[in-house]
Amino acid sequence: MGRLPPMQARCDERRLRRALLSWYRANARELPWRETRDPYAILVSEVLLQQTQVEQARGYYARFMEAFPDLGALARASEEEVLHVWAGAGYYRRARNLHRLAQGVAETGLPATAAELEELPGIGPYTAAAVASIAFGEPVAAVDGNVRRVLARLFAVETPSARWLRETAERLLDRGDPGAWNQALMELGATVCTPKSPRCSACPVAWFCAGRSDAERYPSPRARTQRAVEAVALVLRGRTGGFVLEKRNGRALGGLWGFPLAEGEDALSSLLARYGLRSARVLGTVSHAFTHKRLTIHVHEAAWNGPGEDPATRPVSVLDRKILALAAPENKVL
Ligand code: SF4
Repeated sequence: MGRLPPMQARCDERRLRRALLSWYRANARELPWRETRDPYAILVSEVLLQQTQVEQARGYYARFMEAFPDLGALARASEEEVLHVWAGAGYYRRARNLHRLAQGVAETGLPATAAELEELPGIGPYTAAAVASIAFGEPVAAVDGNVRRVLARLFAVETPSARWLRETAERLLDRGDPGAWNQALMELGATVCTPKSPRCSACPVAWFCAGRSDAERYPSPRARTQRAVEAVALVLRGRTGGFVLEKRNGRALGGLWGFPLAEGEDALSSLLARYGLRSARVLGTVSHAFTHKRLTIHVHEAAWNGPGEDPATRPVSVLDRKILALAAPENKVL
């Protein structure tokens, strides 16, 4: 496309906008957050969708909006209540940031521009642009992984730079309906221009696309570094039922509750020492991946003379649900 005379390129880009928007209006999936212009509801959906697939996000969105229907309700809740409702969706930092954000703007409401939204806890350029364009109609382009892939393919660019992406997305943006345009590009990436086996024959903008003959070549995969980390978890069954649970710290799982867990070479001995135990029986192994590390957790079990807790009464992470599935497959929290 870059070789076209400027006038023709502009005409083609106008046609591209019309084609994609009319495809979107006819084919957009019915999603609960698309039936509202409430900025708070749109923000909740965008934060969920940062790391949760659309089909799973539906359930978490419904649960979250029922528990905290507006900024005030979220601001008044305790962090533990928020994490409990978020439990299972993973990436709990999102929930803690949403909670802090609500406490900061419950009185004033959400700001209407991407620049102001980006100042709030946990809101990056993509989420700010998505909320500002969808809820407030601000003409600002939202670039997520789907949009990056679609643009790289449309222009056959193997390694799109951040600057190229920003400039291309801003140039193509439909200024008359930026919210629909941003969602249309994302929808195309999620349902037609998928990472593997894109459906070019069903694509409304295939005529424009420079990369369609070899679509999967664009963009080149980004190198991901994920550290492999060994850890030990200790399952201690309380004397009268339940388990010993600890409140976790740290960025990923802070505020959640889970089985005693330690990383590193001395993990088992340090856990045993913490509870005054001499030995524990091997139960099995579970794996859990975070963005930057893959945990292999060696789960051990030991008798415990003290009281235990019912995990269903605490916000527990997916990682701890996996341990619980190993230790007590019958437990209701699963
Ligand atoms: S033609 Fe194929 S590669 Fe190009 S945008 Fe459409 S689905 Fe993606």
